[in-house]
This record gives sequence, C-alpha cells and structure tokens, in this order.
Amino acid sequence: MTAADHDRNPTPHSDVETRSDVTVELVKSSASDADVLFAARVSTLGEHSLDELRKDPERSKGLINYLMRDRHGSPFEHNSMTFFVSAPIFVFREFMRHRVGWSYNEESGRYRELQPVFYTPDASRKLVQEGRPGKYVFVEGTPSQHATVRDVLSDSYQQAYAAYQKLLAEGVAREVARAVLPVGLFSSMYATCNARSLMHFLGLRTQHELAKVPSFPQREIEMVGEKMEAEWARLMPLTHAAFNANGRVAP
Ligand SMILES: Cc1cc2nc3c(=O)[nH]c(=O)nc-3n(C[C@H](O)[C@H](O)[C@H](O)COP(=O)(O)OP(=O)(O)OC[C@H]3O[C@@H](n4cnc5c(N)ncnc54)[C@H](O)[C@@H]3O)c2cc1C
Repeated sequence: MTAADHDRNPTPHSDVETRSDVTVELVKSSASDADVLFAARVSTLGEHSLDELRKDPERSKGLINYLMRDRHGSPFEHNSMTFFVSAPIFVFREFMRHRVGWSYNEESGRYRELQPVFYTPDASRKLVQEGRPGKYVFVEGTPSQHATVRDVLSDSYQQAYAAYQKLLAEGVAREVARAVLPVGLFSSMYATCNARSLMHFLGLRTQHELAKVPSFPQREIEMVGEKMEAEWARLMPLTHAAFNANGRVAP
C-alpha cells in the first residue's frame, strides 16, 4: 500500500458500538377489544352499539372470534398503535414493504450525522442455511463461524464508519457520505398501524406453531414482530386470542 493509499483509507473507527437486539416501544395507542365490538355492532345496533359493550363479555369474545374466523376484517381497523423501533437498516427495508395500514417516519441520514451503532448476531442466532429457497432451514453455527462473523463484521463496521467520518471531515454532505455505510447500521423510526395491518404483518414476519400458513421470515424482523405482538396482546387480549385460534391469518 502506498502513502497515497494510506491517506485515502482511514484508520478503523474505534467508537463503533454493536448490538444483537432490537428496540420496540409502544409510544402511543388507542386500541382495545371494545373498539372491534362497537364497530362490528353498528351493523345491527346503529348508534347504540357503544352501550352494549359491557353487557355480555362471553358474547363479545364469540363475536370477535366469528369476525376473525369469517375474515370480516374492517372492525379490526378502528384502533391505532404507534411503535418506536430501533433496528438494522436491513430490517427496515423488509418492514417498509408493508404498505397497507402502516405509516412510517424514519430518522434522516441527510439531516443528522448517523451514529456508529451496528448489528452483530449473538450466539443464539442460527447462522447456516441448508436446503433450497422456500424449503430451507437454519441450523446453529459453529463457535468458529460465530467468531469469524463477529470479527469480520466488526472490522467492516469500523472501516465503514471511519470512511464516513473522513468524508464528513472533508466537508462532504451527509447525504453523500452515508453511501459508505452498510445495512447493518441501526436506524430508528415511528411505525403506526392498526390491529388488522399488524396481524397481516405478524402472519408474514413471525413463525408460530399455530400458523395455518407457515412463513419463513428473517430472524431479525421476527424479533421486532415478537415485541410488537407482546404489546398488542396486552392491549387487545381477545383479538389476539382469536388471531391465534384462527391460524394467525389476518382477517
Ligand atoms: C418470507 C418473506 C420473503 C420475502 N422475500 C421477498 C423477496 O425476495 N423479494 C421481494 O421483493 N419481496 C420479498 N418479500 C416481501 C413480500 O413480497 C411483500 O412485499 C411483503 O411481505 C409485504 O406484504 P404485502 O404486500 O401483503 O403487505 P402490504 O403492502 O401491507 O399489503 C397488504 C395487502 O393489501 C393488498 N395489496 C397491497 N398492495 C396491492 C397492490 N398493489 N395490488 C393488489 N393488492 C395489493 C394485498 O392483498 C396485500 O396482501 C418477502 C416477504 C416475506 C414474508
């Protein structure tokens, strides 16, 4: 390597932080099983549907189950949940394919300097893919594979972040400098959905023994999905139970 090459290749950045988890926080919600019931009962009770809510809990459970089973989906849309999510960019790329019933706002790489936080899988992350697309399974990695992944990612992240800093230091705009950063970089967003759009997301982005139609999501987006599901189940337990009881297919 020549002196000129040295100048062009900055020394690895040492302040890089790595994470193996994701953050999901429910920051705002207006969501309950009652929201499903009053919306469904307006069909037969008109404006009195709200008064009927607490009269017969068993009937309410039955109605939610019936709506789920027969895929009468619109009553599940009269609610709202806003999540703060911090996860690697490759997760966001998959996430934002979910267009219907979702609203997103993500941190900007044009208006702020991106922070050196990157994803590294932990020892529980299955590393090796076997089989063919649509029919493959993931199996444990060896300790040596885990060590290599950790080392290679760490080197690559440090190099990339050092290159980013070098470009910024030379006065290059953030929107151009970010081109050197990899998809393992963490980003953050607010994502707002309703129970129906969340169920569609969970049906595709989680693996579950009760799923009638199995899906094979990438583990890291599933980690986000699992945390969202836990929050949603707390807010709408009857709806969540009916989702599971009917094969985790969104109505
Ligand atoms: C395991 C897995 C692997 C994947 N692999 C790939 C891949 O290799 N490459 C890739 O590009 N994507 C891939 N995807 C993304 C996938 O194709 C979908 O874009 C993503 O799952 C969002 O699903 P959706 O379109 O149903 O959701 P949404 O966009 O939220 O749409 C919800 C529903 O609305 C209806 N709808 C929405 N838009 C339209 C439309 N334009 N026309 C008609 N009906 C519409 C459909 O019924 C749809 O199911 C993968 C997804 C999964 C879960």
